[in-house]
Amino acid sequence: MDADITIIGLGPAGLQAAIHAARKKVKVVAVGKSGSSSLNKAEVENYLGIISAEGSDLLRIGREQAVRFGAELFEEEVVKVTKEGETFVTVTDHERVIRSRSVILAVGISRAKLGVPGEKEFLGRGVSYCASCDAGFFKGRPAVVIGEESEAAESAVLLTEYASKVYWVHRELNASPQELEKVKKAKVEMIGSKPVRVFGEQSVTGLELEDGRKLDVNGVFIALGAKGSIELALELGIMPDPSGKIQVDENCRTEMEHVYACGDVTGAPWQLARAVGQGCVAGDHAAKVLRAEK
Ligand SMILES: Cc1cc2nc3c(=O)[nH]c(=O)nc-3n(C[C@H](O)[C@H](O)[C@H](O)COP(=O)(O)OP(=O)(O)OC[C@H]3O[C@@H](n4cnc5c(N)ncnc54)[C@H](O)[C@@H]3O)c2cc1C
Repeated sequence: MDADITIIGLGPAGLQAAIHAARKKVKVVAVGKSGSSSLNKAEVENYLGIISAEGSDLLRIGREQAVRFGAELFEEEVVKVTKEGETFVTVTDHERVIRSRSVILAVGISRAKLGVPGEKEFLGRGVSYCASCDAGFFKGRPAVVIGEESEAAESAVLLTEYASKVYWVHRELNASPQELEKVKKAKVEMIGSKPVRVFGEQSVTGLELEDGRKLDVNGVFIALGAKGSIELALELGIMPDPSGKIQVDENCRTEMEHVYACGDVTGAPWQLARAVGQGCVAGDHAAKVLRAEK
């Protein structure tokens, strides 16, 4: 099938790009798995105009909006994207072939996992990968942050403004002296050890460390960084920066003409508001350029 723009990703960045591009009356095909979006398991309280919403509901409504404005959506995985002359050729796991003049990469990231028992089982019931998203759920309750770098230091300091007690469990420490000073001032208790198990009943009640200690906590914040789903970008010849994110300019253009990137894959903060904002910019700009070239 032919399209003007192929969007890879059905998370908030891809859907917002689809809405903005389709409203400019270019032909938009968007491919991805809504269930794989980071937003699918989120409970959102920090997005403008919404007091509280399930991420899965926002995605469902976003899909309906994109379709209403004329975008075609396919719940499929892209296995290959190449450039043939001026045309991008995108192939899905359902053997669908989409030929388009532009591509928008809205493929999200994967958060680094701790890999201990209880981590997966208690995700959303005490385990979180995002302090700025979820700190508010732990008001007056104890929490622990796990990580080595700035992200962990910032998360620990932020949590002290909500939680009754904050621990920071780390192996090596790669945060700056200034950040460590802030952590000290915020009275975060630092523990040099390795987590081996998250435990609880309906929700988290503790974290076990390799030295046998058990921390009584209700929140376990894993701040070990993230990597982008960048294989498709690499296939096109776009190199991510050393931290794994795809670099874009103010119009969400990558280093390759007619290829855009938006959302978590372009860097932190990994937040819905940023993903939606960049999706708008990418979709709008890609459509404007194609209309000008017609
Ligand atoms: C548990 C949790 C709670 C969160 N809570 C909040 C919150 O309260 N507030 C907030 O602002 N943010 C929150 N976030 C972050 C927010 O969900 C993300 O910032 C946002 O979803 C990023 O949007 P995105 O479109 O860039 O990526 P994603 O939503 O991750 O979407 C990526 C899309 O790319 C697709 N994709 C990847 N590879 C391929 C491929 N090869 N072929 C086809 N499709 C592909 C996936 O299928 C998916 O549809 C939370 C995240 C998590 C995990």
